Amino acid sequence: RRLDSRSGLSAGLLGEIQTPISTDAIESVYEITGELGRGKFAVVKRSVEKATGKVFAAKFLRKRRRGRDCRADIIHEMAVLEMARNNARVVNLHAAYETDHDIILMLEYAAGGEIFDHCVSEELLPEVQITRLIRQTLEGVHYLHQSNLVHLDLKPQNILLTSLSPPGDIKIVDFGLARRLGAVGELREILGTPEYVAPEILNYEPITTATDLWSVGVIAYMLVTGESPFVGDDKQETYLNVSQVSVDYSREAFSRVSELAVDFIRKLLVKSPEDRPSAAECMSHPWLWQQQFCLSPDSTTAATTTRTVRERSCGAKWAAPP
Ligand code: ADP
Ligand code: MG
Repeated sequence: RRLDSRSGLSAGLLGEIQTPISTDAIESVYEITGELGRGKFAVVKRSVEKATGKVFAAKFLRKRRRGRDCRADIIHEMAVLEMARNNARVVNLHAAYETDHDIILMLEYAAGGEIFDHCVSEELLPEVQITRLIRQTLEGVHYLHQSNLVHLDLKPQNILLTSLSPPGDIKIVDFGLARRLGAVGELREILGTPEYVAPEILNYEPITTATDLWSVGVIAYMLVTGESPFVGDDKQETYLNVSQVSVDYSREAFSRVSELAVDFIRKLLVKSPEDRPSAAECMSHPWLWQQQFCLSPDSTTAATTTRTVRERSCGAKWAAPP
């Protein structure tokens, strides 16, 4: 659920796009089939390009919402996707169409669904997979931040996978709340989903790149434990949990991962944005570079353990552009 922007201002919105918006009948180009997901103002449907057989995800965005013309918001979402076009961790925008009611974004299809499914499943992912997905998420977030973009809606529903089993690579989606920083003045807005928003958003304090790092902490917590760290019985309780940074690190779930996991999450879930590490700093955290060793390959319990590689070169390896 999204909270209304208190200012109602469209601060930091981008207005220039390169992708042409076609008014051709979309059904003549694509065969549109089942629903992949939906949000408040969008429906995403699986679509097959007739000429090539290639599968895409068509995001239908309503142009009018609550009686207001929201075309500019959709153009902005497209512009952000275009700015991040060169990064493999961000979903690619293929084409755009327009009908009387909607603008439709034809997006690269992420066949593995949301990492949310791995946060609520009976069977949580092994630690080595979690750290790989968090590394990839940080790569995408680092790229956005270098371009002065903040996502502001990072949550397990907006991080998708290219394939399900074995889990593929991540794709960051849903740039509806993303903003450009450092334009005119500072950005203060009230938006996002209560259980995933950072304390500075609730306090109507300036938004920075650190806001996204809070969300990475929430996502890591959820992948490790299968629980949402701040969710309460109602919105008020959730807000209180967020603003007091009331987090339970004693969960049994933490016993299945190394202590470094708790250290990583603790560094991100801190109240003051200035005290959170940047995406680049997170990338050199030892949790993300542990190597897994199979202790007893012939044992029936298939026991695995983890050992920390303390070489700093791991971080440096990532820092070089691909
Ligand atoms: P909203 O702004 O309404 O939240 P999203 O862009 O997050 O819209 O899309 C809603 C849901 O649709 C996602 O959470 C996901 O389940 C699905 N979805 C979105 N984009 C894709 C995609 N490129 N490939 C596969 N599924 C997608
Ligand atoms: Mg979404």
